Amino acid sequence: MKGAVLPRPAADAGADAWHDYVYLRDNPRGAYEEYWHHTSGCRRWLVVSRDTATHEVYACQDAADAKAVRA
Ligand SMILES: [Zn+2]
Repeated sequence: MKGAVLPRPAADAGADAWHDYVYLRDNPRGAYEEYWHHTSGCRRWLVVSRDTATHEVYACQDAADAKAVRA
């Protein structure tokens, strides 16, 4: 599944590389994995897998748990 997480540039990468890393994301149609912040609730970061066309949510998990699985 495509995700919103991009490889982090090197610390000495230029401003353009850092701008792209921080602000630019693909916006594909279909299955996509993205970070959501539960601002008004538990304030946790979540990884939500959803279809960008239908808004169907396939899965949701705490971002800390998702990071542990990927490491
Ligand atoms: Zn929450």
